[in-house]
Amino acid sequence: MQSEELQRLSAAIRDVPDFPEPGILFKDITPVLGDGELFAMAVRGLAETVHGTIVDKVVGIDARGFIFGAAVANLLGAGFVPIRKKGKLPWATEIESYSLEYGEAEIEIHKDAVLKDEKVLVIDDLLATGGTAAAALKLISSIGGKVIAVSFFIELTFLNGRERLGANRVETILSY
Ligand code: AMP
Repeated sequence: MQSEELQRLSAAIRDVPDFPEPGILFKDITPVLGDGELFAMAVRGLAETVHGTIVDKVVGIDARGFIFGAAVANLLGAGFVPIRKKGKLPWATEIESYSLEYGEAEIEIHKDAVLKDEKVLVIDDLLATGGTAAAALKLISSIGGKVIAVSFFIELTFLNGRERLGANRVETILSY
């Protein structure tokens, strides 16, 4: 992406101190989503992270990963698969527990959502400690998917989330 585009995206992200609890500086992306030009720019940027690579499925992580993930899937002509917080998916699931920057959680994927050896791009809005994405990668590999990249709109580099994602290709649009 061009540096002018990156600057416009960065300027639109709203920093909210002490949300959802004291000590967390929350990166609010809703001003980006609410601007048609900026939203399209962000989606294009995420799709470009896998330029020239075949993607069968885009997996989006609950909940802001759905917003970017579905749009990226559409742009790439790939299918979309949601990884959801526990108890929301109606069919047979695989489940994984993980810890995040604030709290503990469990996420699930439908067992038949990705076929064996399908090429998967994982999308989420933000990489913090990497716990959520690491759990998502375990779920995808447990049902046979091959992750080709994990792409985030924002990376909080000081939390070293990349270290938890092992040898996977990790791409980000904006880093703080
Ligand atoms: P983590 O598992 O620590 O990498 O946390 C990533 C998930 O938590 C992402 O789905 C983000 O949406 C959310 N998250 C964590 N920290 C923040 C933050 N400072 N601002 C906005 N979202 C966050």
